Amino acid sequence: MSSLGNLRDLYQQVILERYKKPRHRGKTDPVDRQQRGHNPSCGDTIELTVQLNATHDRIEDVKFEGEGCAIAMASADLMAEAMRGRTVAEALQMVQRFQTMMQGKDEFPSELRKLNVMQGVSQFPVRIKCATLTWHTLKAALETANEGKPESFVSNENEDVA
Ligand code: ZN
Repeated sequence: MSSLGNLRDLYQQVILERYKKPRHRGKTDPVDRQQRGHNPSCGDTIELTVQLNATHDRIEDVKFEGEGCAIAMASADLMAEAMRGRTVAEALQMVQRFQTMMQGKDEFPSELRKLNVMQGVSQFPVRIKCATLTWHTLKAALETANEGKPESFVSNENEDVA
């Protein structure tokens, strides 16, 4: 498959390793936020759970479950790692930065440089939604209080990736 060839060319070991051996799969305990996301263009689905601190303004842990391509799963695993210990405000800024990076316009500072391996995806517009799905889903999880509809999906079908 040419897409797998592209993967090897672009992101080399990191994405495939994360895909094969994710470090943050599962569910947080307790679950303070929960959100499912779906990327119809590829079929990726992600269910994020988030553990917050007592005042609900800092992320203690993020875990993910779901099925999808290597880009979607690796992005989720890298994001979960990067989010630990962040304030909710910082997390939302990181979501924004990731989306800007996918437009080829920004990157993360050195302490978060692991996330920059996803930069290569920006050269392949059809795969950008795979990379952004988990970020999109986290944003929805953080912006909605958990009472309500944990079963509802966010979809990035209409996301503007231009
Ligand atoms: Zn995908």
